[in-house]
Amino acid sequence: SRATLFDGEAKVKITFNDVAGLDEAKEEIQEIVEFLKNPKKFTDLGGKIPKGALLVGPPGTGKTLLAKAVAGEAGVPFFSLSGSDFVEMFVGVGAARVRDLFKQAKEKAPCIIFIDEIDAVGRSRGRGAMPGANDERENTLNSLLVEMDGFATDSGIIIMAATNRPDVLDSALLRPGRFDRQISVDKPDIVGREAIFKVHLKPLKLAADVDPKELSAQTPGFAGAEIANVCNEAALIAARRNKTAVDMKDFQEAMDRVIGGLEKKNKLIS
Ligand code: ATP
Repeated sequence: SRATLFDGEAKVKITFNDVAGLDEAKEEIQEIVEFLKNPKKFTDLGGKIPKGALLVGPPGTGKTLLAKAVAGEAGVPFFSLSGSDFVEMFVGVGAARVRDLFKQAKEKAPCIIFIDEIDAVGRSRGRGAMPGANDERENTLNSLLVEMDGFATDSGIIIMAATNRPDVLDSALLRPGRFDRQISVDKPDIVGREAIFKVHLKPLKLAADVDPKELSAQTPGFAGAEIANVCNEAALIAARRNKTAVDMKDFQEAMDRVIGGLEKKNKLIS
């Protein structure tokens, strides 16, 4: 239903404080926040605001979080949908849903439209597997392109999309006036991981031996989503052991679990 697809009505409470690391991405995106807060300041001077920004990076690195934080910082509604929602749709439904989304967004502007996994709809045309399904995907992509071209840059709508496969995107999506900005959202380094741990440790009751530096040193290759997962697992493990605080041993076990899960996933892929 509409209500579950677009959470445009809900006020976004996430801000840049919830997004650890990613300093460069935040800096690049700050301009979009400024624009959403005060579009007139930019357009009065004749400036052309980008319509769309593409967030590029591996899974779980905080692309959705960052897009939500832009809405939270600017205090504007956040409309989202996922490209994968369109994959098995009946003829005409995907295109209609895109039109409906833009119609709602225009009524609520300034606002953000976020399209997760845009590669699922935005794969270059004529490249799909199943012929029937592919036609519908192309219809959806075409209607997205039409809608993106159909509003003025000063209408206060910013479209953000996320992908980990920018290489497969239809070049029409990347043309000027569409997603002409790319922002990389990479996996965190040791400093970034420590910052992400600090965000996710905050709500936990911690024993004195818990050290974010040590945790980040032990989690090379982890994305933010996995770090969040470790923190939550550690709390669950501690609770199961009837502890009054989460200690380093719980984190050790949680990390082993998450690493185990990752290894399983990699085995399935390769
Ligand atoms: P996907 O490509 O799989 O959709 P994504 O890049 O959109 O992933 P998010 O959904 O934003 O990733 O991240 C998942 C969760 O991981 C977030 O809700 C948050 O709890 C945590 N997380 C990821 N990156 C960060 C970060 N930089 N700072 C704090 N938390 C993070």
